[in-house]
Amino acid sequence: MEEAHQRFAQDALQFLKDMTVGEGFVLDTTSNFNDFNDEKLRTYQLVISLDDNPGHSQEQREAFQRYMENGGGWLGFHSAAYNDRSTNWPWFVEFLGGSVFFRNNWPPMPAKLLVDDPKHPVAKAMPATFIAPINEWYQWKPSPRERKNIKVLVTLSPENYPIGLKDIVPDGDLPVVWTNTDYRMIYLNMGHGGRIFSDPTQNHLFFNALKWVIATDKKGNVFEK
Ligand code: ZN
Repeated sequence: MEEAHQRFAQDALQFLKDMTVGEGFVLDTTSNFNDFNDEKLRTYQLVISLDDNPGHSQEQREAFQRYMENGGGWLGFHSAAYNDRSTNWPWFVEFLGGSVFFRNNWPPMPAKLLVDDPKHPVAKAMPATFIAPINEWYQWKPSPRERKNIKVLVTLSPENYPIGLKDIVPDGDLPVVWTNTDYRMIYLNMGHGGRIFSDPTQNHLFFNALKWVIATDKKGNVFEK
């Protein structure tokens, strides 16, 4: 496990604890992948993956798939969606919109992001653009935007290109936050290193995303609150 991803996961746990205090949520954390079983998963409204795929073994992966197909919720950050030829989990790739890791910038850098749909609840009170803190940005091939059941919510601005010094992303579509409309899920590419929660605007986006996944039923309807 990359150290920068663990650092993010620690910060994220603190952020989630602070955010859920007084909101009526109960936050449980685990690093035990055997918790990915039907009995355990069905008791949760939402699974948050901070730095790893939601399931390693075949049994864990199938339990996660059943959980999502039965209306479970998922919020995934950064390396939670990382997959390549060795991952060997076709359902998960479909779930992500066909996205397979293609390339990244290095070192991690801040970037200007564009909010795709200002009317979407996840964009509530967000500016049209903002500068996101230092992150390692993943580009995916194919881009999930090509899928009809994928709604991209935030995109890396082409103004950033070329981004990187050692490893450069020179061009191309780079969705950063998206949802698969067949599920209650949001993927966010942020999640590398110790600066992710340093920006109130981006933190607000995280709060919106958490709230939306919790409040949305399987068909994508938001419950009135
Ligand atoms: Zn990373």
